[in-house]
Amino acid sequence: MESRTNKEITVQGIAASQGIAYGQIFIYIQSDVEVPSYLVEPEKRIDEVARFDRALVVTRQQISKIKNEVEKNIGPEEAAIFDAHLMVLEDQALIGETIREFEATGRNIETCFNKVSARYIQAFAEIDDAYLRERAGDLRDVAQRVLQNLLGQTEHSLSRLVEKRIVVANDISPSDSASIDRSAALGLVTDSGSKTSHAVIVARSMKVPAVVGVRDLTRRAKDGDWAIVDGYDGIVILHPSESTLFRYGKIQERKKSFEQRMLEANRLPAVTKDGVEVTLMANIEHHEEVGQVKQFRGEGVGLYRTEFLFLNSARMPNEQEQYLAYKSVVETLAPQPVTIRTLDLGGDKPMTGAAGLFPKESNPFMGFRAIRFCLEHVDIFKEQLRAILRASAHGKVRLMYPMISGHEELARANAVLAECMAELRAKGVPFDEKLAVGAMIEIPSAATTADLLARDCAFFSIGTNDLIQYLLAIDRVNDRIAHLYEPTHPAVIRTLKHIVDEAHKRQVPVSVCGEMAGDPVYAPLLLGLGIDGLSMSPAWLPSVKYLVRAMTMADARGLAAEALAQSSPKEIYARCDAFYRARVQVD
Ligand code: PEP
Ligand code: MG
Repeated sequence: MESRTNKEITVQGIAASQGIAYGQIFIYIQSDVEVPSYLVEPEKRIDEVARFDRALVVTRQQISKIKNEVEKNIGPEEAAIFDAHLMVLEDQALIGETIREFEATGRNIETCFNKVSARYIQAFAEIDDAYLRERAGDLRDVAQRVLQNLLGQTEHSLSRLVEKRIVVANDISPSDSASIDRSAALGLVTDSGSKTSHAVIVARSMKVPAVVGVRDLTRRAKDGDWAIVDGYDGIVILHPSESTLFRYGKIQERKKSFEQRMLEANRLPAVTKDGVEVTLMANIEHHEEVGQVKQFRGEGVGLYRTEFLFLNSARMPNEQEQYLAYKSVVETLAPQPVTIRTLDLGGDKPMTGAAGLFPKESNPFMGFRAIRFCLEHVDIFKEQLRAILRASAHGKVRLMYPMISGHEELARANAVLAECMAELRAKGVPFDEKLAVGAMIEIPSAATTADLLARDCAFFSIGTNDLIQYLLAIDRVNDRIAHLYEPTHPAVIRTLKHIVDEAHKRQVPVSVCGEMAGDPVYAPLLLGLGIDGLSMSPAWLPSVKYLVRAMTMADARGLAAEALAQSSPKEIYARCDAFYRARVQVD
């Protein structure tokens, strides 16, 4: 570790993903540009066109520079993509139409360019040719860059991150985090956000230390500044001194040797000291992550977030494309189960390539997302259901609906599924006739009607990320109120107990796939409450297994009984933490 000359500054945020990172900062300002619209006075119209020309020139220079960097650092093949971007900038039809739009409307050039480029992107996205469809993505990237230059905004993009850096961002959308080169992010720091924002879920899955809610760090830090990210205590230290670096070096050494011990123990089964077997599964977002499930010895997949196949795509992936992605996971893990969740688009995960399907909402988390979207766009839903059913012929698939709010909604989804099954049967396409169908329990109304849902579900999986936000009325991505997002709130604990009791009365197994499941501090509480299985980012499996092997189920039940009798979330947390520390010696 080396130090720099600037004065050390410590900034407090919220600890979101454990670990310590040291390196140089890469500032990222989210690029989804808000385009203002106004009329340009007639005498300024010549300047407006000149402004457009200048933005095109600057954009061209930026892209050429990136192209050279990528060619040097990665290779000519990867750099070739930027030739396609440069070609977009030469496109006379796009440029000419923007100017004609400007002459006709007199609106500022950003508005005209945004309108024309959006039309082009849409047209490309709908073409039935894979190569041309990909051009929609190029066009979108270039259009964003031109707009940023017109508006004088920073031009950083996460996909440009090629060297190992600490990413410091104002915010990171799910599509941003999906585009990040996972091996290049040393640490993650965001001005806003909370522990269950998607970027943090990704950081945790990569074991990348993360601190969120650091307010204005993007303004205080500069590109290239040296920093430490302490994901244990939620601290970022800019320009760390020699003595700070030494202290953190020691901490890191101890944590590393503990990690090593955990990894070695991960070969052993997940059995408590009093002989109770616990099912530990993995959460994945992409079919490529299946290797990690094997590496960390997950007993199958408890949550496959299929929306990530859609998120950064210029258009909806078709049935065949989805089938191939699902099949590859199912085949690789067979005979272990793969729980495929139907689309949970919308909310914090709007689809960039089909923006028209997701109108802007003032309260997206309570809006048009997940099963609500699928039941209105039955064609899209059916394509996915058929793809999942077809994949079920290649191993053990469990199908799961997100955001179910009640029995009627479940029945509607099941009716669509029955139609798909009938269609496949009629065509003689094989699928698993005994496919297990379950629901995520993540809306309070589903929790309170768990008895009704249990009649028609083979399993429940509790999405604590959403359940907590809806139960406590705490937006899960709002850093202003993140301190109120308390997994140990008595309302949460009682609700979990209620779900488990109602499900077990009807022999329905219950697992948890929210972030609580992958946190060894909460895992004993969940198991003590009667949860049958836990599903988490693969990288967290060893930590949770290590704890399971160090505890007895009798003690975990005792912890749950104590928690149910307590009124203070902080006190319950303290007991969970003490339970963990008494069994796992990190230092
Ligand atoms: C949850 O809500 O806990 C969950 C697992 O789903 P997601 O985080 O994808 O909303
Ligand atoms: Mg959810």
